[in-house]
Amino acid sequence: MKKVCHIIGSQELSTEAISPIYDPSTGHETGHVCLGGEKEIELAVATAQEAAIEWATTPVAKRAAIMFSLREIMLARQNEIALTISSEHGKTHEDALGEVTRALEVVEFAAGAPHLLKGAFSRTVAANVDTASDREPLGVVAGITPFNFPFMVPLWMIPMAIVCGNAFILKPSEKDPSSANLIHALFKEAGLPPGVLNIVHGGKASVDAILDHAGIAAVSFVGSTPIAEYVYARGCATGKRVQALGGAKNHMVIMPDADLDQAADALMGAGFGSAGERCMAISVAVPVGDDTANALVEKLAPRVRGLKVGPSTDNEAEMGPVISKLHRDRIGGLITSGAQEGARIAVDGRDLTMQGFEEGFWLGGTLIDDVKPGMQVYDEEIFGPVLCVARTQSYEEAVSMISNNPYANGSAIFTRDGDTARDFTSRVKVGMVGVNVPIPVPVGYHSFGGWKRSSFGGHGIYGPEAVHFYTRLKTVTTRWPTAIRAGAEFQFPTMK
Ligand code: NAD
Repeated sequence: MKKVCHIIGSQELSTEAISPIYDPSTGHETGHVCLGGEKEIELAVATAQEAAIEWATTPVAKRAAIMFSLREIMLARQNEIALTISSEHGKTHEDALGEVTRALEVVEFAAGAPHLLKGAFSRTVAANVDTASDREPLGVVAGITPFNFPFMVPLWMIPMAIVCGNAFILKPSEKDPSSANLIHALFKEAGLPPGVLNIVHGGKASVDAILDHAGIAAVSFVGSTPIAEYVYARGCATGKRVQALGGAKNHMVIMPDADLDQAADALMGAGFGSAGERCMAISVAVPVGDDTANALVEKLAPRVRGLKVGPSTDNEAEMGPVISKLHRDRIGGLITSGAQEGARIAVDGRDLTMQGFEEGFWLGGTLIDDVKPGMQVYDEEIFGPVLCVARTQSYEEAVSMISNNPYANGSAIFTRDGDTARDFTSRVKVGMVGVNVPIPVPVGYHSFGGWKRSSFGGHGIYGPEAVHFYTRLKTVTTRWPTAIRAGAEFQFPTMK
């Protein structure tokens, strides 16, 4: 069985405390991951601090060159990367390849660092006075990541943090930790000096050690809302810059004029791709008007029933298992609560079994109609292959349902009417909005981020906002020639 160890500097480090790793398709234990704590974080910070000194003064073009090499290596090894992802997460090979492609976008954007970090210069802001401002790295920064994108989410953070001149400590999810060590290997192959990227595995103990360590200047977190809120509060309390992206409840409005086949297909991909374990998955379809709702459910039900569920090794599968037995049972419980609270289970995936993979963490596609705010199945993030239908009688009701939801990651509208689409994009209180695009995850050169309880700290992740998050501004005002003698000036300097 494999053992996934910490990587600090160029050394692999083992710890006695371990946690099991599973293949969700078989349900079998395939290895262990080391669980770090204060001692490992202390060592990682000391190593990163030392590496950060030289790295921060390495010419930015050289730092960017690592990204160009990394891009080539990732492209050449994408199949192997996808297999590593799927073996511990359970998503299909095709879906895992998509994860690699989206991660590549961030690497490509980071390769433009010489331009992104150029700074600004103003000549003669007053007689013989010039002002220059640019951005400096923070030093040692850390990232804490969730299970659902074990390769992409760490790469939402690492390329931008290190290309800006910081050293990085990654604490990945303990559920699928091998992708993190593979990321380290890829960066090493690309020429990243030892100590600039360090991996410390573990759970709460390693997270707390990161949050409390005075040597870490900033923390990027992606995960569930309760932990995001906790990380944000504890990290800020110790003076860190913190961005903490949390959970979601993403709605898709279907207007009466929408192409319903197109909308139903979009809902299938957005609701059930990656078994619904995406923070941008659509979990609530909001048809406007009963005619739209009836027609939509009629189109969705056979599609959900016909979903091809299978192990990650099955190239025909559209959806794999969920991450763990515990998670499957939690989702099953939520579906039951929906029925008890008056919703209608139109398609029930709870009894799915998979021949030859009987112990896998299976759950079939589930469609729940007549869902309303106040029901547990609506109020909680399910994070599984469950699509709820919340019927509304008007467009206004749909918009206010979404805007009143405490989560505000993504939302979408399907319509052929430009006025409605424009109104929706301006009024809906959500961070990322799609018009006839069900999963509006921004490309790598825009930034990603939700609002309200989907994101704490207000900083978008990757893209231009990452440059700001991982650097701080320095402005230098210079007066030449020194021969000028103005005499002592006691009033506030105005440059006039
Ligand atoms: P999680 O919150 O359980 O774990 C995230 C990280 O926090 C992991 O590294 C984990 O080890 C650590 N952690 C867990 N419990 C902790 C505790 N008590 N104290 C300190 N650290 C702790 O999330 P998950 O189950 O791995 O991932 C799924 C969640 O992530 C979903 O809610 C999903 O919506 C969210 N997510 C959000 C985004 C986004 O961009 N907003 C992206 C991906 C996933």
